[in-house]
Amino acid sequence: MTLSAFRFGPLSIPLEQVFLVSKLSYALVNLKPVSPGHVLVATRRPVSRFNDLTQLEVLDLFTQAQRVSKVVERVTKAESLTLCIQDGAKAGQSVPHVHLHVIPRFEGDFANNDDIYDAMAHQPRVDNPERTPRSPEDMAAEAQNLRQEIGSSWNEEEAL
Ligand code: AMP
Repeated sequence: MTLSAFRFGPLSIPLEQVFLVSKLSYALVNLKPVSPGHVLVATRRPVSRFNDLTQLEVLDLFTQAQRVSKVVERVTKAESLTLCIQDGAKAGQSVPHVHLHVIPRFEGDFANNDDIYDAMAHQPRVDNPERTPRSPEDMAAEAQNLRQEIGSSWNEEEAL
């Protein structure tokens, strides 16, 4: 079986933007990070709510989130991380597909620590013309670096 892209809600994520793949989850770089190094860990199965996941999917999502957290912290030299899931539209979820945000945090990066949630809430949607997306080349370069750092490849035997 040859993978050509990953589903992310209604979106299709090219392999170049994916830096980790397991049997039930994958990690992707962000089109519009709230701060540099903000990445996502998503389920392979396109379901929208956390409670839709099986126990094995929960275990795998959080296991991969640990691997991703470790590498993001190392690569960005972050002192802390914000990990969060916006579970449903009323909680701010804009892509209806379970995904966990991994965001590197630094002393003074937001005026008030919890302003990060405002930043996430007030991000224009990706289909909003005010929102300038990153270039595919930039995203691919970040993914390639993370792939090397994490010591994994998107065509890991277990993933296919
Ligand atoms: P949420 O608002 O919790 O559903 O988060 C959606 C996340 O997906 C945001 O961080 C967006 O910047 C990100 N996002 C949206 N579209 C894409 C895309 N095509 N590729 C990568 N990340 C995306």
